[in-house]
Amino acid sequence: MKIIDGHIHIGNWSEIFLNYSSTVEEAVEVMKESGVDGAVAMPADATSNEELLGEIKKVKDFRFYFCAWVNPGDKGLTGFLEKNIEDVRFLKYHPSLIRKRITDEALVPYLEIAGQHKLPVIVHCGRWQEIASYEYPIEAARNFPKVNFVLAHLGGDQPSLCTSAAKAVKESGLKNLYLGTESVREFYFVNEVVKTAGAERILFGSDYNLGLPKMYLPIIEKLKISNEEKEMILSGNMLKLLS
Ligand SMILES: [Zn+2]
Repeated sequence: MKIIDGHIHIGNWSEIFLNYSSTVEEAVEVMKESGVDGAVAMPADATSNEELLGEIKKVKDFRFYFCAWVNPGDKGLTGFLEKNIEDVRFLKYHPSLIRKRITDEALVPYLEIAGQHKLPVIVHCGRWQEIASYEYPIEAARNFPKVNFVLAHLGGDQPSLCTSAAKAVKESGLKNLYLGTESVREFYFVNEVVKTAGAERILFGSDYNLGLPKMYLPIIEKLKISNEEKEMILSGNMLKLLS
């Protein structure tokens, strides 16, 4: 079964993760030893888009899909996206670090670029409900129907948030919404989320360099669903998003 890791970080973190850093070579090694065939790679918060894209373009023996980190305060971002649009496959937005919701007007130009260039947008969802609730990317998906949104951490990395996010995604009826499994450990609730939202809405991710694929792959393997549905989660849905 082909595996695409839908959410990995490479590079340097700021003090939020104690300035921890990892290299592209390390990522390739970990992905390969985990049986991963490709990975959506974004910078950690203290590495620039330019730097990571330059590094992963040198890699010939592993498939990375570059995901640009969107900070609306980054003056060079629009220029970077224009110049490198052929190599950019995803956008990532982290509302808690930027301290603005995905629905903030500062994000509009980037969601327009995402629409024009068919770039799915990964949105960090977390426990800070005022800023990082799953409800905001659902609202954004309604406002930008041409953009596919991935609610990271199954909408909040906490069983109560993950199960309510799955219900909200289902009830929205929107087909441009996905839920990423990265960093969610509570396997029983991952099964609940998949049953509620449907396997076609779920994308596997590890949150490497913070997590490891081997920490989270068993959760998908143990889901009470068919092998076809597991394949959709491990790579099929992602390959459709990337096509
Ligand atoms: Zn992440």
